[in-house]
Formats: sequence, C-alpha cells, structure tokens
Amino acid sequence: MKPAPFDYFAPTELQEALMLLERHEDEAKILAGGQSLLPLLNMRLARPKAIIDINRITSLSYIHKDNGSLRIGGLTRHRMIENSAVIQEQCPLMTEAIQWVGHIEVRNRGTIGGSLVHADPAAELPTVVTALGGEMKLVGPRGDRTVRPEEFFVSFLTTALDSSEILAEVRLPIWPRPTGYSFQEISRRHGDFAVVAVAVLLLLNDKRECENSSIVLAGVGPTPLKAKRSEGLLTGKKVTRELMEKAGGLAAEDSDPSSDVHGSADYRREMVKVMTRRALEEALAKAMQNAK
Ligand SMILES: Cc1cc2nc3c(=O)[nH]c(=O)nc-3n(C[C@H](O)[C@H](O)[C@H](O)COP(=O)(O)OP(=O)(O)OC[C@H]3O[C@@H](n4cnc5c(N)ncnc54)[C@H](O)[C@@H]3O)c2cc1C
Repeated sequence: MKPAPFDYFAPTELQEALMLLERHEDEAKILAGGQSLLPLLNMRLARPKAIIDINRITSLSYIHKDNGSLRIGGLTRHRMIENSAVIQEQCPLMTEAIQWVGHIEVRNRGTIGGSLVHADPAAELPTVVTALGGEMKLVGPRGDRTVRPEEFFVSFLTTALDSSEILAEVRLPIWPRPTGYSFQEISRRHGDFAVVAVAVLLLLNDKRECENSSIVLAGVGPTPLKAKRSEGLLTGKKVTRELMEKAGGLAAEDSDPSSDVHGSADYRREMVKVMTRRALEEALAKAMQNAK
C-alpha cells in the first residue's frame, strides 16, 4: 500500500516547524528519519493531513558536552551518536547499546528524537536514556519544558509529547568514575528489536561498595522499566555474586512481560533474571577496572 494523500512541508527553522504544527493542530506529523513513520504511513495505520519534514532544520543535529552533561539535538542520527568520540568517552553505555539498533542503513537515517517519540518499549534508546537519568527538552508554542523519562514514556508507543511540540534536545548526565556499565540484549536476529534487554550502570565508592546504580529493562512492559527494588538492594553494599542473583530475581518479579510470537511471558521473565545478573557482573568488572 501507499500513504493516504498529505500536504508536505519542509521548514528550515524550528520556529517555522512549530507554527506549521500549530496551524494543523492534531492533523500533522513530524517526519525525522522516517524509519518508523514511513511504514505506518505506507500501511495507512497513520493518516496525517500534513507531514512536516524537519530534516532541513540542521540546528537540531548536534552533540555537545557541557557542565557535566551531554546535549544531543533531537534530529541527531543514530550513526552520528554511534561514531561520536565524546559519547564513547563520556557515555559508553550509549555507544554500546546503539549498535543494537537495526542495521547501518537504519542507523544512517534514524534519529534519537524519532526513537524516543516512537516509544517502542523494546527499543534501545528509550532504555538507555532512562538508565542514564536523561531529560527531554520539548519545545512548543507556549515555550520549552523539560521532562524526565518516567514522565515522558506513558505507555506502549505513547509519550507525554503534545501534538504541538517537538523534541528538540536530549540531555544525558555524565556518570562519574568509577562507573561500570553493561547493555545485554536478546533478539531473534541481529538488528531486530529486543525480546528482552537490560541496561545497567554501577557506581562504586572508595570502599568498592555500590554508591549508586541504575537497572532498566526493555521488552517486558509498556515502557522502559526501572528495577527500583534491585537498585535499592545494591545501595551501600559490596556487590557479591549472591547479591547480583537476588537483584536479578527481584527484577524478574517486578517485570511485566506479555507473551507473543517471539517468546512467552515466562521466558522473558527468566531472561530478565539471567541478563540482569550478567549485566551487573559486567558492570562490576568495568567499575573495578576504572577504580584502579
Ligand atoms: C528494519 C528496521 C529495523 C529497526 N530496528 C530497530 C531496533 O532494533 N531498535 C530500535 O530501537 N529501533 C529500530 N528501528 C527503528 C529506528 O530506530 C527508527 O529510527 C526510530 O524508531 C524512529 O526514528 P526516526 O528518526 O526514523 O523517526 P520517524 O520515523 O521519522 O518518526 C517516528 C515518530 O516520531 C515522531 N518524531 C520524530 N522526530 C520527532 C521530534 N524531534 N519531535 C517530535 N516528534 C518527532 C514522528 O512524528 C513519528 O511519530 C528499526 C527500523 C527499521 C526500518
């Protein structure tokens, strides 16, 4: 099938795009990399009256480091993030996870803003941004607002973004040394969305105990899920094998998977247990290495 007819606009300025969005109220869609939107248009699952193509708004594509955080423009392509030396240096969890997104052709076009707004709970970038404790800067006709992942991801393919807003920037805090990290994923084939994925960050104190941790699960609920009880279990303790097993068990209990053709809910829950433990082991080894 081919898309239903629509009017096409290609603004070169953010303000122009916002005016177009406001003019078309709920009937317009932003087009970024098109990797999720175009299939929806072709299958006529989305029938917007207007497409606002933001690819010419070059001011929305950048990676900057300042004041202990990274700022990534909403139109920044996956591949630019993957190849960025500053991201690799300051946020290696992102570099590792983004390589799991589709194939090079998809990453050449797809954007961080598109991935977050599409909000597939099995997607890598929403999981990583949640794990890092990032923030989304949303720009609309009534000004800017900053939204945390817990508020931004509302449900399956649903976010808190208003139809008059554009996701202009993602801010990622830089975790201090010695933080270890790990991204574990199971998918049917390389390049597919995750059946289950787990992102872990682990910061150690001077006594090599857990000072802070972040454990986020993908593919096992309507949004990326923060395994809060597992994180709480680790805080202030030496991260032993036994503790990691327990953290995996709690994460599995707190996950909310469904069954589908890719795996049953029980299989996914079991994978959460195993992969959380594995991710913690890898993150701990990296943190110990950084602490030397
Ligand atoms: C074969 C294939 C395999 C894939 N595999 C994976 C995978 O393994 N993991 C994964 O995470 N993803 C995967 N993807 C999806 C890919 O990551 C997309 O790039 C991403 O989901 C959407 O980004 P996009 O820039 O293409 O957005 P688009 O498709 O252009 O837009 C997606 C949605 O976001 C909205 N939007 C886009 N940008 C903005 C913005 N700045 N502000 C407000 N709204 C905006 C659009 O209106 C639309 O609703 C795959 C895609 C394909 C085609």
